[in-house]
Amino acid sequence: NELVFSGVQPTGNLHLGNYLGAIKRFVEMQTRDAQCLYCVVDMHAITLWQDPQALRGQIREVTAAFLAAGIDPTRSIVFNQSQVPAHAELAWIFNCVARIGWLNRMTQFKDKAGKDRENASVGLYAYPVLMAADILAYRATHVPVGEDQKQHLELTRDIAQKFNTDFAGSIAAHGHGEDGFFPVTEPLIGGPAARVMSLRDGAKKMSKSDASDNSRINLTDDQDLIAQKVRKAKTDPDPLPSEAEGLKGRPEADNLVGIYAALAETTREAVLAQYGGAQFSAFKGALVDLAVEKLAPINAEMKRLTADPGHIDAVLADGAARAEAIAAPTLDAVKDIVGFVRRT
Ligand code: ATP
Ligand code: MG
Repeated sequence: NELVFSGVQPTGNLHLGNYLGAIKRFVEMQTRDAQCLYCVVDMHAITLWQDPQALRGQIREVTAAFLAAGIDPTRSIVFNQSQVPAHAELAWIFNCVARIGWLNRMTQFKDKAGKDRENASVGLYAYPVLMAADILAYRATHVPVGEDQKQHLELTRDIAQKFNTDFAGSIAAHGHGEDGFFPVTEPLIGGPAARVMSLRDGAKKMSKSDASDNSRINLTDDQDLIAQKVRKAKTDPDPLPSEAEGLKGRPEADNLVGIYAALAETTREAVLAQYGGAQFSAFKGALVDLAVEKLAPINAEMKRLTADPGHIDAVLADGAARAEAIAAPTLDAVKDIVGFVRRT
């Protein structure tokens, strides 16, 4: 049985990278014969300080983006992490399975903590363990994410495997499968936009937390702003190559062609077959038209949805109840496996 899980942080400024690398692919997953869970991971968001009033708005905005992009909340489970206690409970148990040495290797922590590492929150450091709990509370088999999450998913696999071996005897004694209690989750990273780069710097990923708003296209940007940001996007002086090979060593060109390909649901090769030899001015014009065509309906629907927070909160409440029904038996079993005495 396939079970798909993924999450997005309500840290504001949802951008084209989140859409093409994650949310658009969440929508596509719904055609598989699998239960899909899509989570607004607010407990991850507070690993960096969030203004409480703003956070509430950001949680509803990510939920609105899920729905506006085409996630069907009756078919998939759309919910908010903090409404399902299993995430935090399992994360504690996993804190006792994961090794400090494993976490010390996580590059995202190093990036996000910056120079003053001593002053970063413990939560920021332990973040990948909570992410493993998010996934494994549902014993998810597939996790669609952007390329930047690859290392965290490897950690999730390591935690699952170490739990399975550390508690092998107890797992068997409680009558759980011979191939271990937790599945070794498959990351689904791919497509032409697995790593959308900043429009200002082809070496940095497009990110919500980038100080420059010109570095990203936000899902809330209107047509004029999208046009302005694409026109200003950094490029090199050469025309586009006619083959993907020619994008090597040209990160900005590679990025814009990748974005075009993902929006058009095709490949870099197909885009270059059409635009090879074109100047960036012409290609950027085509990219603006395509981006506006694809993003404007999502933008409009997000506006409509966020105007009714009551509806969004009801979707989240329904999702939390359905998510909890899947996670609770897993948590019960985990508590038995590790040897806790249960309330009678
Ligand atoms: P933050 O800077 O707060 O970490 P973020 O932009 O990295 O924000 P997340 O909420 O951490 O967004 O990630 C949500 C999903 O979007 C993840 O699956 C992540 O891999 C994906 N994602 C984030 N940035 C990009 C990007 N530039 N290209 C492709 N996918 C991305
Ligand atoms: Mg991130």
